[in-house]
Amino acid sequence: MRNTTSCPHCGATLNAREWTLGGKPVFAGYEQCECEGARAERAEIERLQAVAERRERERREREAIRKAGIMPRFENATHPLAPECARDMQQGRNLYIFGEVGTLKTHLASATARILVAEGCNVRFSAMWKVLDAIKAGFRDNYDPLPAYQSCKYLILDDFGKESPTDFALERMFALIDERSARMLPTAVTTQYKPGRLIERLAKNGDKDTAIAIVSRLRQDCRSIELEGRDRRLG
Ligand SMILES: [Zn+2]
Repeated sequence: MRNTTSCPHCGATLNAREWTLGGKPVFAGYEQCECEGARAERAEIERLQAVAERRERERREREAIRKAGIMPRFENATHPLAPECARDMQQGRNLYIFGEVGTLKTHLASATARILVAEGCNVRFSAMWKVLDAIKAGFRDNYDPLPAYQSCKYLILDDFGKESPTDFALERMFALIDERSARMLPTAVTTQYKPGRLIERLAKNGDKDTAIAIVSRLRQDCRSIELEGRDRRLG
């Protein structure tokens, strides 16, 4: 360690700095040069650090978004109604988002989930068919996939009623929605169907009373949002 060095930009002599640690002097780098070149170099290092920090923050956000179950296609989804939907859920309300195919229901649901994830909330987003698949697989392999869905703070189920569940799956769906309702945990669904039609869809292979019980719990303390508009996916 030398006592001085010279600035690579202007050649000025820079003294070593020392700290005292346990009574002994410790080398603590050289003093900063205030010439233009040295300042520009420090500014560049700060800029690069800020870029790296921003990238790391964005990487963590993307990871949280994927972990919540939001599909890559929708990980940047935005929707003008998403902020108020997120606020509604944070105030404990369920959401019933319905509309024809292509009215951006999944966009709205994903954008809402994204806002909740960005605020550090425990969010799960899933297409309803995936929950039904997990229930089926759980029945076969003797494990219960429901607790994770029952206990997350916010649950968003996309395309509710797209498939008609079996009698067994319908019972498990009821167990899921009923438990969340009892725990006062907000659930959002997107669906093509108005409530009456949704009950018919859910009851197709199962028990109508159970279907009614599911939909009526979803509709408790619930905000309904009907989305309209032409099918954007068809151009
Ligand atoms: Zn210098």
